Amino acid sequence: MNYSNPLPPEGINTSKDISPLAEAAVLSVSLVLILACVLGLIHVTVSHVTKFISLSQENQLFRQIPFMDESTQNTQSKKVESYLQTLVNDLAQQQQIPKEATITVHYSDSAIINAGATLGGHIIVFRGLLERIPDENTLAMVLGHEVSHVLQRHPIQSLSQGLTLVVLTTALSTYLSDGLANQLFSTTNLIGMMAFSREKEHQADLDAVRSLAQYYGHIGGSTELFDILQKVSPDQSSDFFQTHPLNQSRQHDIAQLAIEKAWRMDGTRTPLPQYILDLKK
Ligand SMILES: [Zn+2]
Repeated sequence: MNYSNPLPPEGINTSKDISPLAEAAVLSVSLVLILACVLGLIHVTVSHVTKFISLSQENQLFRQIPFMDESTQNTQSKKVESYLQTLVNDLAQQQQIPKEATITVHYSDSAIINAGATLGGHIIVFRGLLERIPDENTLAMVLGHEVSHVLQRHPIQSLSQGLTLVVLTTALSTYLSDGLANQLFSTTNLIGMMAFSREKEHQADLDAVRSLAQYYGHIGGSTELFDILQKVSPDQSSDFFQTHPLNQSRQHDIAQLAIEKAWRMDGTRTPLPQYILDLKK
């Protein structure tokens, strides 16, 4: 018997029908598709889990916001906060807050022109914004907008988007250089994650203006704030400025809804209490 040991034919490790470049392209696209599927799955799962957490459970989970120390508040700040809380409770009633849930307002004696809603049903209002508000109706538009973010569960939904982003960044950092991953992390900071989408802002505007119509019998004060804040400085971002639809288009949408619903465009404005007006001094 003759044994032979022939060399394997050339090219058995390369496919004949497809060029190496095309093969690399197919592999890269597959990798991207797999990554996209994994991220989609994480996003859907986390979004689903957040749906099973009620607002009152969220209240329990995030009982305190770590960056607010209210133990040092003076009497005036406490008075302001309690007035804001009463108005928020009334507006939350207009937006059908569940019985067992709560929304807590925090007043910050700081020049920042801002207000915002965050996890656990917390709303923060800064002095800088209050100083620029002419009457209670205008304030109710801001608070009604933030109440809507809380009741529509926008902060916890944004958290799930944020988590997906963290997973994406971590996955990328395994493949990319540390520098690039860090850069991605710094641009997707926590505040960025908590910014709400255009749709969420739109919904919050419409819920707020509906609350005004029900609470005051007219929607006076619903659109002036956009003009007031625009004049202050476009850089001083408030929740009303973040990334969102142009002010004119938001004012237009509010006016459109008022026409549809046949709401009165204006009426008697409720004045702000003197201690709120005194903040300007
Ligand atoms: Zn908003």
